[in-house]
Amino acid sequence: MNLHQQFLQLARQKNQIQYQLLQLLPEIYKSGIYKKYANTIEGYAMRFAQLPESTVRKRLNLEKHLTNKPALRKAIAKVGVHKVALVARIATPENEEIFVEKLRTMSKPAVQQLSKELRNKPNNKTFTLKLTPNLQNLWDQTKKKLGPDLTDEQILEQLLIQQKSPGRTFTTKSLSQKQKQQTKEVYKNKCAYPRCRKESEEVHHPGRNGDHSDLRPLCKIHHQFMHHGLVKNETKQPHKWQLQIRKTTNQTDLLYQKYRK
Ligand SMILES: [Zn+2]
Ligand SMILES: [Zn+2]
Repeated sequence: MNLHQQFLQLARQKNQIQYQLLQLLPEIYKSGIYKKYANTIEGYAMRFAQLPESTVRKRLNLEKHLTNKPALRKAIAKVGVHKVALVARIATPENEEIFVEKLRTMSKPAVQQLSKELRNKPNNKTFTLKLTPNLQNLWDQTKKKLGPDLTDEQILEQLLIQQKSPGRTFTTKSLSQKQKQQTKEVYKNKCAYPRCRKESEEVHHPGRNGDHSDLRPLCKIHHQFMHHGLVKNETKQPHKWQLQIRKTTNQTDLLYQKYRK
């Protein structure tokens, strides 16, 4: 182990201890026992454990959102105040265990993004379009060509993607560097997750359609979403994807989680 690794290991242990200290604070505050040793709870936490004031306050404020969520409260000792605070208001007694699983396996930026998306459920743009007889004719022909089973939304998406990048189609060769590059280009090197504006960094390949029609370029955070059971309809076109809170049970996803660490 080199010096840096040694330092990291100790830092991790220090964080773990700090999480456990923070876990105890609300009870100490409620009991009033701290008054024997300091004027305020912040002073007490600083005097004996050098805990930052802002973290102490965050911990105490968090308590009211944890009253009927024992698993989430317990998780503070493992993952810290900041990660738990990101989901405390969103989680319910029914789904808190699932959130705990996500906190343990997802990175902090990914939890941050998840919390943001759950707080602002998006309004999808919807409109009705009345087709002229000519357009209706064209639409029917296009639908026949692209696949009669596709929904109107899927056809429109195919057309818009082709418009962005003409002549690109998926093939069924094995997944190569070139394939990944092409997939990224179809999405203009952007993350395929709805409304994400980030550059794509990784290519997600659920491989459940038997070909490569489900390859998606994603940013690192949304790739984590895919492998944490958070995306409903993940093998369908991105506009069909929906955020969901579910336990990770898929073996591939569990392998990914292990690999990412
Ligand atoms: Zn993937
Ligand atoms: Zn993204």
